[in-house]
Amino acid sequence: MARVRLENITKRYGDVVAVDDVSLEIEDGEFVTFVGPSGCGKSTTMETVAGLTRPSEGRVYIGDDEVTDLAPKDRGVAMVFQNIALFPHMDVFENISFGLRLRTYDDEEINRRVEGAADIVQLEGMLDRMPDELSGGQRQRVAIARAIVRNPDVFLMDEPLANLDAKLRVHMRTELQRLHRELGTTVIYVTHDQAEAMTMSDRIAVLDEGGLQQIAPPLTCYNEPANLFVAGFIGSPSMNFADAKLVAGGVETDHFVVELDHRNVPGASVGDAVTLGVRPEDVHLATGAESIAHPTDAIGARTDVLEPMGDEIFVYLVLGDGDARSMEEDPATASDQLLMSVTPETELREEQSVEVVLDRSNVHLFDATTGEALVHGITDLDSSGREPGTTSTEADS
Ligand code: ADP
Repeated sequence: MARVRLENITKRYGDVVAVDDVSLEIEDGEFVTFVGPSGCGKSTTMETVAGLTRPSEGRVYIGDDEVTDLAPKDRGVAMVFQNIALFPHMDVFENISFGLRLRTYDDEEINRRVEGAADIVQLEGMLDRMPDELSGGQRQRVAIARAIVRNPDVFLMDEPLANLDAKLRVHMRTELQRLHRELGTTVIYVTHDQAEAMTMSDRIAVLDEGGLQQIAPPLTCYNEPANLFVAGFIGSPSMNFADAKLVAGGVETDHFVVELDHRNVPGASVGDAVTLGVRPEDVHLATGAESIAHPTDAIGARTDVLEPMGDEIFVYLVLGDGDARSMEEDPATASDQLLMSVTPETELREEQSVEVVLDRSNVHLFDATTGEALVHGITDLDSSGREPGTTSTEADS
């Protein structure tokens, strides 16, 4: 087991900056997932840990040792990839033990390790099967067992479940979590699938265009995204965004105003352009007796498309007259749209006029220029116009 540290890693391929000055530290025994869209630099970053790619700049440490120039085999890492390359003419036992034979372990040690690994990935009784007699999930377990027998300090997994069907992926997700719990080995896992990242990881490292956007526990990335990219990438369906402006006593979009004490938005002043973000589950039908603690004022809207998902209904709302949007505008960022998620019992039809409120404690504001998060959750002025939590003496002085 070992911790892993990346120090100012940059990797260039000609003009392409695949990894852009990434620094991060992974604790001993931690499960960290690199997540982000295709081409954001996840694999390249992991390859610098594996030793498959030499960084253009920066250093890699595993444990207390710098390994930037060490060959992959000398780093104490074991890798599992998306494409499971098993030797077709070798049975499961031979496939799992292949790497050990190259390292000239004796038969007794090899048997012990293979049987231990087969037990962990639940392949006992299948050691004499040939690869073409295995399901996709079993083949992937052989690949994982092959990594386990090497007894690595760090597991590196690059989209290991990407080729499996949806049901099997969910199953393997729990198997990998169990494996991590049993072995306690440091894991670096690469995926573009945020559900995998959210469910398995101690922390996720969100990458975009080669840059590290945030590294934090999954729910922190969800509830307190560091910037617009993380806010939009984590969560499905995506957070709603609206262009907005700070005004006296509120934040104003094209279609609604949310009361706000801008003194609680650090570094911001009246007139600043901001982006307001709110997740679909934090948009609620206004009932007059709101079930949420701090609703905003009601916002008039019209229902457009309804998507019943079984456990919830996604309701696409159009704000204002809904005709102002040009055809070119991306619906995901169009300020006149709002996606709301409601319980399946909610009775709604298309083209219905409704009033909705936002859960104030989950309204996010981002700097419109830099995209950096300003606040997660907003407070309004109390009825006396004072900042919440201040005494009259403080506020008057
Ligand atoms: P991800 O794993 O997030 O999909 P990669 O790390 O594979 O992204 O790639 C990051 C960027 O670097 C991409 O633009 C990709 O095209 C580029 N890239 C990766 N490997 C090479 C290479 N060997 N030669 C040239 N460009 C590469």
